[in-house]
Formats: sequence, C-alpha cells, structure tokens
Amino acid sequence: MTVALLGFGWDKSSSYARGPALAPTIIRSVLFSDASSTYSLSGVNVREVISSFNFPSMPEHVDDCRKVIREVVNEAIDSGARPLSLGGDHSISYPILCAIKQAYGPVNVLHIDAHPDLYDEFEGDRYSHACPFARALEANCIQNLVQVGLRSVSPAQRAFARKHDVVMLGADANAVEQIPYAKLVAPLYITIDLDGLDPAFAPGVSHPEPGGLSTRDVLSIFKKLEAPPIGADVVELNPEKDVNLATAMVAGRLVKELLAMLSINR
Ligand code: MN
Ligand code: MN
Repeated sequence: MTVALLGFGWDKSSSYARGPALAPTIIRSVLFSDASSTYSLSGVNVREVISSFNFPSMPEHVDDCRKVIREVVNEAIDSGARPLSLGGDHSISYPILCAIKQAYGPVNVLHIDAHPDLYDEFEGDRYSHACPFARALEANCIQNLVQVGLRSVSPAQRAFARKHDVVMLGADANAVEQIPYAKLVAPLYITIDLDGLDPAFAPGVSHPEPGGLSTRDVLSIFKKLEAPPIGADVVELNPEKDVNLATAMVAGRLVKELLAMLSINR
C-alpha cells in the first residue's frame, strides 16, 4: 500500500494556546532532515511509501475547514492510498473519521492522549479539540475506542465513555500490557495526540500533563498491534512551546513508524 501524507494546519479549535497550525510543515521537514535516515525501525524506507503530499491552506471558517479536511482525505482514499494526517489541533480527527467511515464503515480506534476529548461541548464549541471523539461516536464512525495515556478526565467525560463502552487507560508503568489488543483489529485507525506522551519526551504541546507515556511505550504499543492501520493522524504539536525541536523529532519518529505500518499490504 502507498500512503498520502496530509497536513492540516488548523488550530482555531484549540481552547488555550495557538501554534499547532505551524506543525505540519515542521514535522515534514524533520521527517526528511539529513540529521536522520528515512528508514523506519523495521527497515522500511518511508520516502518510498509516500505516493502524494497534500498540505491544503485552511479556510477562515471552521465549517469550511472540516469540509476541506473531509474532501482531502476522501480524495487520498479514492486514489488507493492510506491517509496519514499531520495536525493541527485534535479537532481535525472528527472530519477525518467521517471520511474514513465513508470508505470503511465504523473503525476501531487506538487513541493516545492525556485527555479523552469526549466533551459534549467546550466553551460553547461542539467541534472544539476537546470534543472530536464525542462527535465521532455519535456519528457512528467508531466501533471500539481504546484510549491510552489519560491523565485528565472529568466526571462528565467518564460518564460519556461509559455510555459508549470506551476503554479508558492511564499511563501506568504497565500501560502497554493493559491494552485490549483484541478490540484493535481491522479496520484500525490510530490517532496520536502528542500530549499523551510525558512532557519530558514531548514538551512542545499546549496542554502538558506530567506522568505520561514514553516514546518507547508508544513504539511498543505499535509493535503489539496485529492489524496494520488503514489511516492515522499525529496532532497537537505546538512548535511555539517546543525545545530544540525535541517534540517535532518525536513526532517524526512516530510518523516514520506509522508510515511503515500503513504501507503493509493487508
Ligand atoms: Mn490532549
Ligand atoms: Mn487530544
């Protein structure tokens, strides 16, 4: 399979700080920087699996923005590629999952994040980066939702999760082993909010929550997945908060591994 690398520089649905709009081009340059090779840990040259790039400019209004994201992802899938999207804030995952549903029906989702993003609305916005999985569950885009790395869960979100059978896991030392991998079978989608990692590994995020996953934890989780994903996104890098590109490089590592996984022909 080939992969379409998509960049959605949208951060106006963020509740606190702006910055993630700058992330897609930065992750892209780190990914192809001469400082490291373009090979994944499994030995795939990820440069060779990317069949197209699409980093559209984002319209002013959020409703138009969701439409553009949906169309770009649809287009990628129609071309026979699997979409890997770079955010932007986490609000982009809802329109992406709508496009994924159109092609695959409801999918199983591995969601790495410090936050469940299951608010019904946040500061009056139902499409905030705090809400994408509430919208996606309501729209029946998701079969099983498994969240890992959670450290900031409100009672309302816990109640919403219970209603929709969402698996909520923290970032304990045995987080990798706790995951019910049997729920993460094909068709599998992976969404990674970089604040799911500990700020020691990923300081460049808008909402840092100490006590998170390590980079190696996330790589170990990837290894335990049986089905290759049919799509993925990496979101919430805030270059304004980053230190020496540390978080951008973690994003680059994860994107490299995701590109290799997405290229698996199954
Ligand atoms: Mn988060
Ligand atoms: Mn998130």
